[in-house]
Amino acid sequence: MSKRDYYEVLGVGRDATEEEIKKAYRKLARQYHPDVNKSPDAAEKFKEINEAYQVLSDPQKRAMYDKFGHAGVDPNAAQGGFGGGTGGFGDFGDFGDFGGFDFGKDIFGNIFENFFGGGFSESRKSGPVRGADIRFDLEITLEDAFFGAEKEIELYRIEACSKCGGTGAKPGGSKTCPVCGGRGQVRQVQNTPFGRYISITTCTRCGGNGIVIEDPCPECHGTGKVRASRKIKVKIPPGVDTGSKLRLAGEGEPGTRGGPAGDLYVVIHVKPHKLFVRQGDDLIYEAPISFVQAALGAEIEIPTLDGRARLKIPEGTQPGTRFRIKGKGMPRLRGYGRGDLHVRVDVVVPKKLTEKQKELLRKFAELSGEDVKQPHKGLFDKMRDAFGV
Ligand SMILES: [Zn+2]
Ligand SMILES: [Zn+2]
Repeated sequence: MSKRDYYEVLGVGRDATEEEIKKAYRKLARQYHPDVNKSPDAAEKFKEINEAYQVLSDPQKRAMYDKFGHAGVDPNAAQGGFGGGTGGFGDFGDFGDFGGFDFGKDIFGNIFENFFGGGFSESRKSGPVRGADIRFDLEITLEDAFFGAEKEIELYRIEACSKCGGTGAKPGGSKTCPVCGGRGQVRQVQNTPFGRYISITTCTRCGGNGIVIEDPCPECHGTGKVRASRKIKVKIPPGVDTGSKLRLAGEGEPGTRGGPAGDLYVVIHVKPHKLFVRQGDDLIYEAPISFVQAALGAEIEIPTLDGRARLKIPEGTQPGTRFRIKGKGMPRLRGYGRGDLHVRVDVVVPKKLTEKQKELLRKFAELSGEDVKQPHKGLFDKMRDAFGV
């Protein structure tokens, strides 16, 4: 059950004066005192009122409560809990940035362990811990990325032992930890040069589990976890690209002490394709055309990932010219429609010509005023003319 806000319990505003708090407390205490009030929840209510008053009537505790909520104060602690002892730590702001911390119930554990050199991760040992995430790298074809696919992957992961249900014990083979009483934590009052403080440490007897195993499960040897091979179906949406991460919630490793399982992240790698180069949502295709097609113009057929498209090559097209066929690229993973297909034409010069073809080409050259008998007359001569050498 979550605790009610102390200000709410006393029915006062957060800016209430000490006097207002006192007045509100007296009124409520009279109203709910178990000797007076016989309703079944009066005792509980009375306790709640007292607890709220204990914190809000103490300026130091109130400041802590304002800053950290219920995690910041412990009205039942010896010596008034943290900050009530001699010296104290003063303002928590001195500890610097807590941005990365999870302000949970064990905030004290975190702060003290951090301050006194204990490992931060140690403080996490008690209470539920979320299981680790798993990364799986999956190679797919461009066709898979285009159409979407369902793949079955096989991975080894840690799973909760099915024999013991993850408890690590044979049925009836465990008991509540006698050291911590099942809480998983041990509280200690310590005196340091900084003053008296309450330290909360993970119970060493049970390791924070709250139970001790007397008769371990033979399957997992008391760990509650086993390594297992799992086949998992992964749905690949159309449009994924290399680096796309698919999250399968809860398919990671199991949590500890009732914590949730981690997630499985499938990281996509798209294999190179023999026809297309991908650029985001666009595809690039290099189309070989003959020099005749380039010179005279033509309509050619272009392969796409879903059929064929036609492309008009205008007359006098130069090698390397790019054309765009709209909407014939990859589907967009987010949003509608598809990218484009860019076609880059590659003019292919024939390697083998018949005598007749050669004859015609010579004739063609003649008509163009080109002297084919001097093949070097051309680029090099032009360069010579330009540089005057
Ligand atoms: Zn214990
Ligand atoms: Zn087991």
